[in-house]
Amino acid sequence: EDYVSLSLKANYTPCLEESHNGKALSKAMIGRALQQRVQSIDEDTCEPGEEDAFFVADMGDIYRQHLRWKKHLNRVKPHYAVKCNPDPQVLRLLAAMGTGFDCASKAEIDMVLRLGVDPSRIIYAQPCKTKSYVRYASKQGVRQMTFDNLDELYKIKELFPDAELYLRILTDDSASLCRLSLKFGASLDDTGDLLALARKLDLNVVGVAFHVGSGASDPAAFLKAVRDARFVFDQAAALGYELKTLDVGGGFVSETFDDMAAVLSVALDEYFPPSVRVIGEPGRYYVSSAFTIACNVIARRSVEDKVLGVNSYMLYLNDGVYGNFSSIMFDHQHPIPRVLKAANSPASTYDAVAPYDAGNNLPLEYSIWGPTCDGIDCISESWTCTQTLDVGDWLYFEDMGAYTKCSATKFNGFSDSHATVYISSEPGASALLGY
Ligand code: PLP
Repeated sequence: EDYVSLSLKANYTPCLEESHNGKALSKAMIGRALQQRVQSIDEDTCEPGEEDAFFVADMGDIYRQHLRWKKHLNRVKPHYAVKCNPDPQVLRLLAAMGTGFDCASKAEIDMVLRLGVDPSRIIYAQPCKTKSYVRYASKQGVRQMTFDNLDELYKIKELFPDAELYLRILTDDSASLCRLSLKFGASLDDTGDLLALARKLDLNVVGVAFHVGSGASDPAAFLKAVRDARFVFDQAAALGYELKTLDVGGGFVSETFDDMAAVLSVALDEYFPPSVRVIGEPGRYYVSSAFTIACNVIARRSVEDKVLGVNSYMLYLNDGVYGNFSSIMFDHQHPIPRVLKAANSPASTYDAVAPYDAGNNLPLEYSIWGPTCDGIDCISESWTCTQTLDVGDWLYFEDMGAYTKCSATKFNGFSDSHATVYISSEPGASALLGY
């Protein structure tokens, strides 16, 4: 019921005035939520799992990112990439704010449809699809989907001949964190043949899609991709297609978003008239900074260097690379530890954001490890902190919303689903979510 009432508000337009102190309020609220939960846990008496790692998620952060998107990239309608973080509250908020969704599988399509989102707001953006999923998409009326090869066209002809197809093209993603064009995208040498076959099979090609790689850093990649898309629009026109939509994919990073958006907007206006609809598939941009994770120190090992005469410590946390820190392996991230609770240090609060300034003590050397038996389960090989950390203390890590919990495993019997404390630093998000 809740979901349905939210989806009815899908036309809701958030106020475009960005909240100036939103980030400061967000930090303060996250700090309070982290501390409250940690204070409620007594690790000497708690049941197994009560001291598990947990997230604090600020829905207001996502709301602000959406306002920022609308301000800087208003021409591009975002279709949130569910794979990045399929958290149900995130999906609810985005559905209520009226975004579309990029789904990669049946399960993701289901999650979004269950929110009451109209199938026309979904793009099945996976160029190499499972046959039964294509049948499922057809049954559910999820018509938009991508392709990049001849075999996929025959598959779609057989299973969903009326689908609205986007030809995904290759990009130069060499400057991105996670390269996708190694696996997907048709080169401009092949797009002519693909469009000709689509025409022969009487398929409904409606647009072009690209993705410049996740965690993109080079605005020139967007510029080239837009130019290449224009080339394919013209190729399609020569075959009698009138393409209506350009999908500029994802790849946006919060820190560089404004600059990327400026380059992309100029390129779009230069190469595509206003009559062409433009959509995007951002993932990381929306969720990365909204999620903070807190982890418990479950063990400590002192390491003595007999030659240099220095001590360092190995800290073992209850989450690691096989869990929510999967982003270290799959997403090339370097999460930064910060002290949440250090029982033996006076300056042991969340506010000690810069550990080096936390006291006058000499810095101590730590390495930080996950809970599994595997040696690659290392969060940080070297971290310096002035506080003395021991079993029962807590660390937290910011910017843990993208490609983290979605790729966590149960390896060694540890949980792959951790509690999330939801807060909202923006009244607009609170109103939409009923917080
Ligand atoms: N669209 C597609 C097809 C993807 O494969 C991905 C990420 O892998 C995304 C969108 C989201 O990308 P990002 O999180 O970099 O915005």
